[in-house]
Amino acid sequence: MGKPLVVVFSGAGMSTDSGIPDYRGPQGLWRREPGAEKLVTYEYYMADPEIRRRSWLMRAEIAALGALPNAAHLAVAAMERAGTPVRVVTQNVDGLHQLAGMPDRKVFELHGTARAVVCTRCHVRSPMSETLDRVAAGEPDPACLTCGGILKAGTVMFGERLDPEVLAQAVAVAKGCQVFIAVGSTLQVQPAASLAGIAAEHGARLIIVNAEETPYDPLADEVIREPIGSALPALLDRLQEVQV
Ligand code: ZN
Repeated sequence: MGKPLVVVFSGAGMSTDSGIPDYRGPQGLWRREPGAEKLVTYEYYMADPEIRRRSWLMRAEIAALGALPNAAHLAVAAMERAGTPVRVVTQNVDGLHQLAGMPDRKVFELHGTARAVVCTRCHVRSPMSETLDRVAAGEPDPACLTCGGILKAGTVMFGERLDPEVLAQAVAVAKGCQVFIAVGSTLQVQPAASLAGIAAEHGARLIIVNAEETPYDPLADEVIREPIGSALPALLDRLQEVQV
């Protein structure tokens, strides 16, 4: 008997209660502003300083939202602190799971992180706030202070591959967990989405918490449509009683 390994797989819906818009959603930036996708498409970003200028302004705008972890992020971190083994696999780049108290080593960020900036030439990493300070001080497209290369957010842009090491770790925990909770993800972006299927194939209890239908609903042991901010804390409370 012991505590089950719980994997929380989170998508954009996890962070909308924190005020971070779902850029791909129906009201998302990508639909509102044609061409906005170029700001996060590697090829355009690398080729055009104007795209980079607009991209940094978008990062500054998101940072200015000052998003804080919501009840769902806090509930996940609280369960981990209370002794249930928890791993987070996330499509989000906002770092809110860690800000809620999840240890960095237990969070696998499939799409990278917007908390860091990376040089596309020498790969040196630095905090996002440092680059945004330079933008605010009048550098529209700040270059790497080490090598002069083009800087970009530490996120995985369209046209870039997921970090194979992060993906391998995510697959490993999906295979090894007893409970896999997919939260706020439409489970449509591959290969991230297929983790739900991998977990179910390996015998995990699959629970989906999402406002809309997902392709994995028929495979799920439980589908919850209630708002994430209240549904996830209640679900995790219930799971903490479970022994395997
Ligand atoms: Zn560099």
